[in-house]
Amino acid sequence: MTDAQDDCIFCKIASGALGTELVHETATTVAFNDLAPLANKHILIVPKRHIGSLAELSHGDDGLLGDLMETARIVAGKLGIADSGYRVLTNVGPDAGQTVFHLHWHLLGGEPLGQFGRQ
Ligand code: 5GP
Ligand code: ZN
Repeated sequence: MTDAQDDCIFCKIASGALGTELVHETATTVAFNDLAPLANKHILIVPKRHIGSLAELSHGDDGLLGDLMETARIVAGKLGIADSGYRVLTNVGPDAGQTVFHLHWHLLGGEPLGQFGRQ
């Protein structure tokens, strides 16, 4: 992974440097449990390549985007929440409350989820 950023926690996790248990891994993505879960099931879906956020994606990343969404779908199946339902979202920038600046999707489920939007 030539573009890994030394100070990026998700680059470290994706490279295996921290020994984080992965829920799923593909050639381009990893999925692992969120440190501070906001639902019964809370998984992060992350590209191995460092990308700051959705705002940095372009058409050239369409394949990676497909990989990430497929990983989310596969993980939901692994967790047994494919039928009960789940939410997949990515925060972009300050108003969305993004805190880790390595692209990731939250996969939330395992219980009925509340509404979302303005606080
Ligand atoms: P954001 O607020 O950027 O959309 O989401 C960042 C998420 O990463 C948060 O839900 C936070 O709990 C999670 N997180 C931050 N640091 C770590 C870590 O070192 N390990 C794991 N597994 N999750 C982390
Ligand atoms: Zn990174």
